[in-house]
Amino acid sequence: MVNWKEEVLARREDLLTDLKDLLRIPSILDETTIQEGAPFGGEVKRALDWMLALGERDGFITKNVDGYAGHLEYGQGQELLGILCHLDVVPAGGDNWTYGPFNPTLSDGKLYARGAIDDKGPTMAAYYALKIVKELGLPLSKRIRLIAGGDEESEWRCVNHYFKHEEMPTLGFAPDADFPIINAEKGLYDGLLTQGKPVQAADTGYQLVHFEGGERPNMVPGHATATVHVAEYGTIEDSFHQHLEEQGLTGTVKQTAEGLVFEVIGVAAHAMEPDNGKNAALHLARFLSTLHLDYNGRRYIEMAMHMFRDSRGVALGVAASDETGDLTINGGVFRYENGQGTASINIRYPYSADFTERLQLIKEAAIAYGFELQTRTHMTPHHVDPDHELVRTLSAVYERQTNQKADLIAIGGGTYARSLTAGVAFGPVFPGGPEVAHQVDEYVDFEELLLAVAIYAEAIYELAK
Ligand SMILES: [Zn+2]
Repeated sequence: MVNWKEEVLARREDLLTDLKDLLRIPSILDETTIQEGAPFGGEVKRALDWMLALGERDGFITKNVDGYAGHLEYGQGQELLGILCHLDVVPAGGDNWTYGPFNPTLSDGKLYARGAIDDKGPTMAAYYALKIVKELGLPLSKRIRLIAGGDEESEWRCVNHYFKHEEMPTLGFAPDADFPIINAEKGLYDGLLTQGKPVQAADTGYQLVHFEGGERPNMVPGHATATVHVAEYGTIEDSFHQHLEEQGLTGTVKQTAEGLVFEVIGVAAHAMEPDNGKNAALHLARFLSTLHLDYNGRRYIEMAMHMFRDSRGVALGVAASDETGDLTINGGVFRYENGQGTASINIRYPYSADFTERLQLIKEAAIAYGFELQTRTHMTPHHVDPDHELVRTLSAVYERQTNQKADLIAIGGGTYARSLTAGVAFGPVFPGGPEVAHQVDEYVDFEELLLAVAIYAEAIYELAK
C-alpha cells in the first residue's frame, strides 16, 4: 500500500519552489503581444513553455499544440486518462494586494498570488500527483495526460483548438472547481430579444424615451433607469415612491428637460439563482406598466414583464426540474431607445429537459410582443452518471483520504470539465472553503493543496491501474 500523504510530504519543498516560479509569470491574455505560436500573448506562452519545460525536466513526453494548449504524458495503454488544467489567469483587479499579485508569498499557511487557487496551484497539485505515480513506477494500463490550456478565463479557444487536433480522453477530471465531485452542469443558453421596427402610433401622453438596466447577461441587474416624457406630472412621483416602498427598494425620480428620470436600485446576483437578487429593471418595468405608455414603449415593457415574470419559466410554460435543479431564466441586460429595444435572456436548464421544444415556446412568446429571439451561445447540459466508473472511483478515493462523504454536486454554471466527453470537476476547493478566485489577495491554503495532491495521486493511480 502506498502512503500517498507521505509521498507528497517528501516533495513539499520542490512543489512550493516550482509553484512559486509558475505564479511569478503574469499569464494574462494580452492581445497586443499575439503572434504565431502565442495566440493569447507573450506571457501565456511563457507559462505554457515553462510548464512543458518542467515536464521535460522530469521525463514526461510533452507536446505544445500551437501555443493554445499543451500536454505532458506518461504511461502505456490504449485508453487515455485526461487531467484538464489551465495556465492563464485573470488580471490583478486592483493594486491593493498585500504582497503583490505576482510575488507569491507563503504567510500563515496561505500562499498568496494571482492564480494560486485558479488554476496554477491545482495545476501544480495535479502535476506533482502524476509525478509521484511516475516516480513510484506503479504498473498502469492507461496513458495519463495533463492537459494545460491558455484561454480558460476568456473563451476556451485553448481546449476547442486542442481537442480539434488531439485525442479526447476516455475519461478525465478538471481540478478547477470544488470538491467533492461536480458531475452535473445545466445547459446554458444565452439569447438576445430584439424588438421589431417602431410603429407610428397615437400620442398617449407618456412616451418611453429611454430604458436601461444591467451590464451582463449572467447577472441580475442591480440598477436600472428610465426616462419618460410626460405631458402632465400629476401624482406619478408619489406613486413611484409608494411602489418602491412596497417592494422594499430604493430609487429616485427627477424632473429633467427630457422628462421624468426614474432610477431603481435593486440587488445584483449571479444568474445561477436569480431569486437571490432583486431585478432592478423588472421592478422599474412593473412600475412603468401602470402608466399609459406609447405603443412601442408599452410593448417593450410588456415583453419584459411577461418573459421574466418568474425565474422558473412557469408563466412561459417551460418550467423543468430534476435532481440537478430547476430551469432558471434571467433578464440581465435591458436597452431601449428611439422606440426600439433589446433584452438578453439567460436560461439554465436541467439535463433531463427537452430544450428544443422549450426554446420554440419562448420564441413564440417573444413574437407575440413583436420580438425576435436570436441565439448567442448555447452549451448543452453536461452530466456523468453517478454509477460511472469515474465517479465511483473518485468518490472512493476522496472518502478514503478525507474521511468525509463524497456528495455529488450539480451546478447551474459551467466548469472546465465540460470540455471533456466523460469528465467531472474534482476539487481543489474543499466544502465550506472561501471563494477567493478572481479576487484581490487570492490564495491557496498550502496544507489543503498538499492534501489535494495526495487525492489526485491516488485518483490517477486508481483510474489508470
Ligand atoms: Zn479556473
